[in-house]
This record gives sequence, C-alpha cells and structure tokens, in this order.
Amino acid sequence: MGAVPGIHQLRDVGGEGVQQGMLKMEDAMEISSEGSAGSSSHEMGDEDFAPRTTSEPHFPSQSELDDLIRDLGLTKSGAELLTSRMKEWNLLGEDCRTSVYRKRHEEFEIYYDFSDDMCYCKDATGLFTALGLEHDPAEWRLFIDSSTRSLKAVLLHNGNKNPSLPLAHSVQKKENYHNVKQLLEKINYAEFKWDVCGDFKMLAFLLGLQGGYTKYSCFLCLWDSRADDDHYNKVHWPPRVELQPGMLNVLRQPLVDSKKVLLPPLHIKLGLIKQFVKALDFGGETFQEICLMFPKLSEAKLKGGIFVGPQVNKMLKLEKLERAMTKVEREAWCSFRDVVCGFLGNHKDPNYKQIVAKLIENFRKLGCRMSLKIHFLHSHLDFYPENLGAVSEEHGERFHQDIATMERRYQGQWNTMMGGERG
Ligand SMILES: [Zn+2]
Repeated sequence: MGAVPGIHQLRDVGGEGVQQGMLKMEDAMEISSEGSAGSSSHEMGDEDFAPRTTSEPHFPSQSELDDLIRDLGLTKSGAELLTSRMKEWNLLGEDCRTSVYRKRHEEFEIYYDFSDDMCYCKDATGLFTALGLEHDPAEWRLFIDSSTRSLKAVLLHNGNKNPSLPLAHSVQKKENYHNVKQLLEKINYAEFKWDVCGDFKMLAFLLGLQGGYTKYSCFLCLWDSRADDDHYNKVHWPPRVELQPGMLNVLRQPLVDSKKVLLPPLHIKLGLIKQFVKALDFGGETFQEICLMFPKLSEAKLKGGIFVGPQVNKMLKLEKLERAMTKVEREAWCSFRDVVCGFLGNHKDPNYKQIVAKLIENFRKLGCRMSLKIHFLHSHLDFYPENLGAVSEEHGERFHQDIATMERRYQGQWNTMMGGERG
C-alpha cells in the first residue's frame, strides 16, 4: 500500500470498523447520548501490525505512518503536526514527507466541483484512476443518504474491499425529488448507472413515487397497502408494468431504473420490529420489559416500535426479554431473529425462503399489520440480489461511519476545496 499517494487518505473514509446497525446521523447521536450505542468494532489496523521482536528502535515508513494517522482519526492539520514533530525528532523513516498530506488533498481537488450549494465529483473515472482503482460500475453501488439537514452520496464497493468514495455532499440541500435529481445529474449518474441504495424514503424519491402513506406504495406491484384483509392471503399482486407519472401513485419521472434499486435490509429489519412491537399488549410483560430496557425512549417511540439498529440487536440478545414473552410472541420473535441472522445479515441461509415464510406466518398469528417492508419479504423475495450479503446490513452502517469520519476529517475542506463558503 502507499504506492499511490492519497490512497491512504481516502482509505480513511472507508477504513474504520463497522457499527452495529445502520444509523441516521441523528439516530447515532441520540443513541450515544443514551449511552447504549453499539460498541464500535474499531480495530487498530491489526492486519498490518506485527509485534516487534527486537528492542531496536523502529522508524516508521510512510505507509506505517499513514496507517497510524488513519487509526488515530487525525485531522489533516493533526496529521501534519504529528509528522513534522516526528521528523524534527528524527523518528521517521527516510521516505516520510511532511508535505504529503497537503499535497494529497490538492491532488483530488481537480475531480470535484462546487455549484448550487453542492460539492460533487465531476469526474468519477478520473478519481478512480487517481486512486489506482478499477472502476467497474457493476462492482460499486451508490448510497444516497439524506436528512432534513443534508444530502450525501457515496460510492460503496460491493464486498467492501475498497474504500468508499464520497461523490456528493450538500449541507444546504433538503431531501426532495428535485435535489436528488440534481445530485444525480452532477455526478453523471446516467453514464455509470450504478445500483442505488438508500432508505425507503430515498427509494421513493428515486422512483418518482408519491411520498407518505399511499395506496400503491410498492414500486414492483400494485399491492394495495389499505387492503388489510388480503395482505396475508394474497402473495401475488398485479405487477407494475412501468412507473408512469400521474398514474397509481407515481408522481414524477423515475430517476433510476427500478431494477437498479437495492432494498435496504436494515430498514426491513426496523420495519419488522416496528410491527412486532405494535402488535404487543402494551400492558403485558414483554412490552414492559422493552420499556425497562430503554428508559429514555419516549412512550410514543416505544409504542410506535421505533428503534434503531443497535437497539434491536440489544433486544435480540436479551434472554430476559424472550422469557417474558407469551408463546405466540416468542415464536414470532424467534422467527424474526432467524430472518435477521439468516437473510437480512451478511449470511444468507440456504433455507432462507422457509425462514422468511415462517416469519410471515408467525407475524400473522401475532396479529402484526403488514407494512410495505413486510410485503417485500412476502411477495418479492426473488427481487433481492443474490449477493445480498455483500450489499446488505453493512452498507448503511459502513456508510454512516464513513460519512462521520469524512465529515470530521474533511471539515471545512469540502468547502474550501471547492471555493465554497458553506459550513
Ligand atoms: Zn409489491
């Protein structure tokens, strides 16, 4: 490593451990303030680090220094300070340069631009080449994340072997169809046509669907979200032939081909827990146990079954919770766990179809309402890509970790780099 100047710096963006559970930034903050955040599995570059067996002093090479800087999560100025001090004390190997950090960011500048309140990569091919990476669009997926405060897009490598690459970032842009459209135009999406992932709200923007609680909310079929009586009985609904604006809850021209959309497993998991909790007897033991687990969550969130990934993982691990359950609750709960482990996670069980079918049956028995997310499991299991593992669970978690690291390290840089003044 280190042959291509700069690769370590962008590795920073993708090199850290993976959080348990895909979090919106807000959720991440909320959960850490609650003190129940999943512990980060940050490993200190252990594959590169071999304990030294001699007592001779060791002068780190450029790539060792880069790894250290990455592991410490230093900012650019922090990295420069550390490097120059170590240089002054003659503690660095001969190949180490103090100016390298400044140079690196200049090197990438040329691939980015800033306009309409958005910093974006105008030349993805050039960026890949500069990083010494192969760009096969089929091996990468575009993750778009949005909140009321910002809009971001990052390219993630399927299998996560390569670093993730930030492609666009705006702290001014709100999440809406127009802004997502603009983002895709700026990064020349039409040329690369990566698979796209995001939460369900983002997928609705991308496919031009009407937002909110609509009758035809599925982009694959004409599942009637309001026909509760049919939900568990009817698997096959008339497929959508095309997404035509003005028809059947399609509001606008889709921005991406619906075949390019990857369903977000984490959101399906959160959708499942939501319906599970909502079906519980709020006066019963199970619900009380959940309330005890999360004393700081509001009653509205608890009763609405609104949790984030790490909280769900915590519940799945707690035996006491399972012991509090009635038989029918426990059956639904165990099949939920089986689906999380055998289908929505990184491992796809060979019997995943039976596992999912059992979940649907047990959720039905518990009286869970079928939501769009459960409908995907019920009716569109074949839509999931074969490599679900490679693109699943991790993608969001990794993305949020990456974005947080990126924002910390590139604070201000995104803006000064592009000549913009936004903070
Ligand atoms: Zn459908």
